Amino acid sequence: MAKRKSSSKSSDQGMRHLAEAEKALNRADKLQRENQAQLNKLVAEQRAERALREEMDNLPPEVILRARELDKKKKFHRAVAKRVPRDVARDTLHLECGHTHSVFHPDSGNEPRRCSECLDRWLLRESRKLKKKKGAA
Ligand SMILES: [Zn+2]
Repeated sequence: MAKRKSSSKSSDQGMRHLAEAEKALNRADKLQRENQAQLNKLVAEQRAERALREEMDNLPPEVILRARELDKKKKFHRAVAKRVPRDVARDTLHLECGHTHSVFHPDSGNEPRRCSECLDRWLLRESRKLKKKKGAA
């Protein structure tokens, strides 16, 4: 009788260990899936970044020429909405468009300045429009 009791007890313990091992395995599985998802996301981000860089390196010349004309008329210049000291040498300019620029504070005033982000967005937009038009023609 006593022998049976002890064997049933050790079998309970074995089941408990098995359940714990299964839980640990599930946790490891979940972690691995999460890591994989994070890795996939990083790879997708890098691919998108590379595609964007390639696009910016291969802008149609006519789009670049139009951007130059507009730039002469200061169409990509934005007013400074706020200037925030960043460290001893630099300030962060918050432009009216929402983009920010880091500048050396002694040699920069608060006059409107070209926003390279707005310019890049314009270049991309116009380049895509042109490619679409050429593709459709
Ligand atoms: Zn901007």
